[in-house]
Amino acid sequence: MPVATRRTEDVAAIRSQIRAFLENAPRPSGLRDYGPTPTAADVAPGRVWHKYLAEHGYVCLHWPAEYGGADASVAFQAIFAEECARAGVPRQLAITAIDLAGPVLIKFGTDEQKSRYLERIRVGDDIWTQLFSEPGAGSDLASVRTKAEKTATGWRISGQKVWSSAANSADYGLLLARTDADRHRGLSMFVIPMASPGVSVRPLTQMDGESKFNEVFLDGVEVGDDALIGEVGQGWAIAIMTLGRERLTLGSQAVAMFRLHERMVEAAREHDLLDPVLARSMTKLWTRMWLLRYTWQRAIDAGDTSSAAFSVLKLMTSETDRDLGDMATEVLGTDACADPADNELVHHMLVGRAQTILGGTSEIQRNILGERVLGLPKEPR
Ligand SMILES: Cc1cc2nc3c(=O)[nH]c(=O)nc-3n(C[C@H](O)[C@H](O)[C@H](O)COP(=O)(O)OP(=O)(O)OC[C@H]3O[C@@H](n4cnc5c(N)ncnc54)[C@H](O)[C@@H]3O)c2cc1C
Repeated sequence: MPVATRRTEDVAAIRSQIRAFLENAPRPSGLRDYGPTPTAADVAPGRVWHKYLAEHGYVCLHWPAEYGGADASVAFQAIFAEECARAGVPRQLAITAIDLAGPVLIKFGTDEQKSRYLERIRVGDDIWTQLFSEPGAGSDLASVRTKAEKTATGWRISGQKVWSSAANSADYGLLLARTDADRHRGLSMFVIPMASPGVSVRPLTQMDGESKFNEVFLDGVEVGDDALIGEVGQGWAIAIMTLGRERLTLGSQAVAMFRLHERMVEAAREHDLLDPVLARSMTKLWTRMWLLRYTWQRAIDAGDTSSAAFSVLKLMTSETDRDLGDMATEVLGTDACADPADNELVHHMLVGRAQTILGGTSEIQRNILGERVLGLPKEPR
C-alpha cells in the first residue's frame, strides 16, 4: 500500500506486533466495537476486554511509566487505535477515564488523588464521565453555571450537565463548576463520586436507538476538600488541557470508513443505483478518505499532538465521516428506513451526524484553525 511505503521499519514492526496481539487475544462474549463510549450493556464485556489489554500493557499507552502507562510514542498510540479499528474491538472500557481524567490527575492531582484513582482507571475498575457541557454551555464552555459553594468541610455543588457520555455507568465525574463570577478564573475542577446523594442521571436515547449520553442533575451534592483538582480557579486551564487528546486517535477512523465505503459500493450495486453521477460522488468521498489517511500519517510523523496537521484532522475526520453517513441514503434505496440495529450503513447514517458536534463543532474547529494556525484576526467576542 502507498502509505506503508512511507513508513519506517520501526512502524511496520509495531504494527505487526500489535496485529498479532489482537488476533490472538481472547474476545469475551458480547464484545463489539462500541467506540469510545460503552452502553450499559457493553460495560461487562468491555471490562473483561480492558483487563486483558491492561495485563498485557496495552492500556494507558500515553501515561508515564511511573503511573502504569507505556510512555508510548505518538506513532505507537495511533497504530494501536488503527489496528483496534481494523480488528473491530474497542481500545478500552471507556475513554474519559484514560484520556481525560488520568492525564488531568497526573498533571494536577495530589499524591493522594493519584493513588486513589489512577490504578483503578488503568485496570478498568472505574468508569468516568466528563461533566463539562451544560444546556447553555457547549461551544462557549466558559459559560458554565453549575455552582460549587465552599462549606466548612468541602463543597456543595448544584446545577445541570448534559451530553455526559457513559454517566449512567460511571463511578466518577470530572466536573467543571463555577466557584466565582469571573468568566475564566471563576471555574474550578472537581471529582464527583456519581453515587453521591443529590446526583441523578437521566439517559438520553439517540436516534440510532442506543443510549450513550445522559443529563446529569446535581442537587446540593456535598463533597470534601479533597474533591478539588488543582487550585481553586484553575478549572479553565485544566479543561483546555483536556481538549485535544482525542485528535491523536481520530485518523484511525479512516480504517472503518474504508470498510463502510466498500459496503456502500456493494449496496449501490445491489440496488442498481450505481450510475455515473453516484459513482463520481463516491469516488470523491474515497479520495477525501485517502487525503485524511495521509494527513493522519503526516501528523504521526510530526510526532507532536500540537502540530497543525493534528488541528486540521478533527475537522477533516468529522466532515468526511458525516458525508459518508449521508451517502448511505443514496445507496440504500428504501433500505434506508431499516432498523439501525440490523443495518450497519443505516446505523452510520444516523450516528455520523454527531461527528461534527462532539469534541467541538466544525464551526469552532474552523475558528481555531483560522486564529491559532493561520493567525487570522480573532472573531469579535
Ligand atoms: C456524541 C456527543 C458526545 C458528547 N459527549 C460529551 C461528554 O461526555 N461530556 C461533555 O461535557 N460534553 C459532551 N458533548 C457535548 C459537546 O461538547 C457539545 O455538544 C459541543 O461542544 C457543542 O455544544 P452545544 O451542543 O451546546 O452547541 P452550541 O454551542 O449551542 O452550538 C450550536 C451551533 O452554533 C454554532 N456556534 C456556536 N458558537 C459559535 C461561534 N463562536 N462561531 C461559529 N459558530 C458557532 C455551533 O457550531 C453549532 O452549530 C457531546 C456531544 C455529542 C454530540
